[in-house]
Amino acid sequence: MKDYFKTLINNPELAYFDSAASTQTFQGVVNRITQYYENERCNIHRGDFPQSIKVTDECEEARESVAKLINANAEQIMFTSGATDGLNMVAKWCENAKVVIISEAEHSANILPWIAQGRTIDNGRLVVLPLSSRGVVDPDVANETFKKHPDAVLSLISTSNVNGLTNDLKTIIGMAHEHGIPVCIDACQTLSSHKIDVEDLKPDWLVASGHKMFGPTGIGFLYSRSSYNDFRPIRYGGGTVTSYNFHGSIDFYNGPVKHEAGTPNIAGILGLGVAAEWINYIGYDEIKSRLVTVQSWLDGYGLFNISGMQLVHPGDEVRNVFSFTTDVHPTDISTYLGLDNIATRVGKVCAHPIVNKYGNGAILRISTHIYNDEQDCKKLVNSLCQTIQKLS
Ligand code: PMP
Repeated sequence: MKDYFKTLINNPELAYFDSAASTQTFQGVVNRITQYYENERCNIHRGDFPQSIKVTDECEEARESVAKLINANAEQIMFTSGATDGLNMVAKWCENAKVVIISEAEHSANILPWIAQGRTIDNGRLVVLPLSSRGVVDPDVANETFKKHPDAVLSLISTSNVNGLTNDLKTIIGMAHEHGIPVCIDACQTLSSHKIDVEDLKPDWLVASGHKMFGPTGIGFLYSRSSYNDFRPIRYGGGTVTSYNFHGSIDFYNGPVKHEAGTPNIAGILGLGVAAEWINYIGYDEIKSRLVTVQSWLDGYGLFNISGMQLVHPGDEVRNVFSFTTDVHPTDISTYLGLDNIATRVGKVCAHPIVNKYGNGAILRISTHIYNDEQDCKKLVNSLCQTIQKLS
């Protein structure tokens, strides 16, 4: 698998365990971006020349590829700059909701847009679902909350970027809908490893980022179950309208383009399309079996038995994100690992409330993916053992 990821080939000493921050980019994505810049460079939507028409069509094909990955229709997919962008848009559309329900495992991108609306747990306009001892939202606890707040919106992480555990989305979304509560899912950490079928789960909105699914940075998408025509634009600009005048009349295009103001990230869109196709091609079963193998190498070399490091929410689940509280400061550990060319992450990992609850304000996060090999795992665990010995 490493062969498909040039940064890993070109840096053979690098053991990359920071995939939850950004996966490596599939070489087919890089090739597609290069092809655009070297052979197809132009703007889309507004050109009558063949090249512009071709690239416009290719961007629409990329929309279809993304839609296919989650079993949606192309007109339900809007390109964004990433999950943060999508979550901010949904927050704007829901700003009049009386109550917003989130979980305590949310990423800053799904907390700050709501707090910025003046919502707090003190004024009751923000309600925070606790995590169970298993590290996920307990559907029964969520259901009790939905009963109390039928006029709420639920905005929920699917897989935690701290503990790597995935919520029971089908049950929770179903319960929320029974109470008439619309649901937004932050699928950022899920799409590179778990199948999401929006026809089965039926979220109202779902957001993701290209750079967390073997794609480019600076591009992502927002899925909406209902028509984009129903939502007011958050950004205004070129490419979104059929006509307007100085008397204030604006006629918008139908569908997602109504909200895609300005020149889009064309290379990013083309690259994201390839990433989605590639995930579809290798399939989630194959991805899962590779993640199981990586997890068993880490286990075999003793990652989960190093004294002075405690895994947050130990369990048998297959995951690709493992966070540890540590007896010595995790920043010291990750700095030493960095000297051995091992990429890990430390701190609050943009999930302040849950990390503050778990550790002394910081955790050490090790996140794997399909390209990690046995050598990486051995190197990581050896270096960790030596580092902890040195620091203790
Ligand atoms: N949600 C989760 C769970 C994440 O892990 C991240 C990225 N760390 C985001 C949202 C934000 O994604 P982006 O920075 O690509 O907008």
